[in-house]
Amino acid sequence: MDTSTNVIPIPLKMTTAFIVRGEGTILVDTGYPGSEDAILEKLHEIDIAPEDVNLIVLTHGHPDHAGSAAKLREITGAKVVINRLDANKLRTGTQGNLKPSRFIGRILKLFLGHGKNTRYPPLEPDILIEDLFELDEYGVLGKVISTPGHTPGSVSIILDNGDAIVGDLIVPSLLSSKPNIPFWADDLNEVMKSIQKLVDYAPERIYIAHFGGPYTLDDLKKSFRI
Ligand SMILES: [Zn+2]
Repeated sequence: MDTSTNVIPIPLKMTTAFIVRGEGTILVDTGYPGSEDAILEKLHEIDIAPEDVNLIVLTHGHPDHAGSAAKLREITGAKVVINRLDANKLRTGTQGNLKPSRFIGRILKLFLGHGKNTRYPPLEPDILIEDLFELDEYGVLGKVISTPGHTPGSVSIILDNGDAIVGDLIVPSLLSSKPNIPFWADDLNEVMKSIQKLVDYAPERIYIAHFGGPYTLDDLKKSFRI
């Protein structure tokens, strides 16, 4: 078991980004546009210079995850990685259509489904990934795997230390705070397959982007009955 890697959550407006610190440093997600200061402040707090960030991994192309990626690439010089199936969202700085999969998704879509919340500064990704991307050469023991469903190009980060960061693959039930399916899903069937795939990797702590977590593997097994 790798004990040299740490996951440091950065709470942002409505969402969470993560610093993964091993021998090197990677940033997972970047928040809405304008989140760069909060992220730089957190890096400063733990003594990491912006130029020491080796890579920016985007779990998917929605504005609350990719919104500050252009700014942070400029500041850190780090390469930006996204699954090729979400690359066009990043290239155009748009979230695309949100398909509600839960009642709360329908309500939230009224607020987040249009207007300025749907757009962000676009950028051309540096690295497009398919099914699997190893992080070792960026100084972090772990990998990025495709976990589609919320969006076609959604990915999760699986670390050798037992942590996983899953973006919006899992979002809590707002009543029980137990793991649940995302508010929006491009393909719900794919979401369920991806959750099974995640569970098969047997992570110990599962970090999510919105309103809760981290969960244990048992939390996931119980909630999704797998
Ligand atoms: Zn999302």
